[in-house]
Amino acid sequence: AAEDLLSGDTAPGATADGHAVALLANIGTAADAERVAASGAGAEGVGLFRTEVLFLERTQPPTVEEQAEAYAAALRAMGGRKVVVRTLDAGADKPMAFATQPDEENPALGVRGYRLVRPLPELLATQLAALARAQEATGTTPWVMAPMISTPDEARDFAAAARAAGVATVGVMVEVPAVALRARDVLAEVDFVSLGTNDLAQYTMATDRLRGELADLLDAWQPAVLDLVAATASAGVEAGKPVGVCGESASDPLMALVLVGMGVTSLSMAAGALPAVRYSLRRHTREQCVAMAAAARAARSATDARAAVLALAEPEV
Ligand code: PEP
Ligand code: MG
Repeated sequence: AAEDLLSGDTAPGATADGHAVALLANIGTAADAERVAASGAGAEGVGLFRTEVLFLERTQPPTVEEQAEAYAAALRAMGGRKVVVRTLDAGADKPMAFATQPDEENPALGVRGYRLVRPLPELLATQLAALARAQEATGTTPWVMAPMISTPDEARDFAAAARAAGVATVGVMVEVPAVALRARDVLAEVDFVSLGTNDLAQYTMATDRLRGELADLLDAWQPAVLDLVAATASAGVEAGKPVGVCGESASDPLMALVLVGMGVTSLSMAAGALPAVRYSLRRHTREQCVAMAAAARAARSATDARAAVLALAEPEV
């Protein structure tokens, strides 16, 4: 409830022993950014700006001016704090008239997310140009990342396009198992990565995220998903580059501990989830988080993984 947010404390995210973990908000519009800034939830920035909302229910994509205005408004609302803008993620779960590819039998595996650069390169070019304009207009540097990257070459090409447009801090989402497995090569091309655990679980478990009756398979606690998250986080630690999580799993107070134990550096979620995650981090040391990550990965099922972590957690988290 709003009262809880307002009465909650807004200290930066940290474990009991003072290891910093940035707590960020997911937004879909500039108005969301204003609400987050005003909410008292203590977001240290925006870890995922889903720009799809700007493009939804339109026959043509928004112009560079329209987009620049929206991005600048979000940057201004956050007052210089970090804002990670994700380039357009049209696809199976986010259909758009101008970007829908004809005759896709498996749209989740088709021309979606960054792959739209193949048939529609101007979509990405316009969006990057708008971001560069917003950067100029506000004097604030946005971070930009692409969804649905599958190879280091795609990460390289995206980074080159963003830097050529004038956006300096470039990352990609880790949503495809191939990228988690080759995170080291991908991280060599970009400044940061962000784990989209919703899609990562979908693709790892071969389970449509739109099919509610398969929720037990589509679970970020599945050990196979945990292994891929851990592989990505380790590669980030090795490269000395930030690895965030912006999928739903970041908002689970127990999972947040596991993610931090693996080496994840920021957690981005619906603003309403921030207080519980902040509290959970504060109640546990980094060493406890590392032990929880090990316990989760030693389990052979999602249920066992969660139970093993719960058994190590402080009461009332
Ligand atoms: C994800 O896949 O986890 C993610 C954050 O992106 P979206 O939910 O928008 O696909
Ligand atoms: Mg996704």
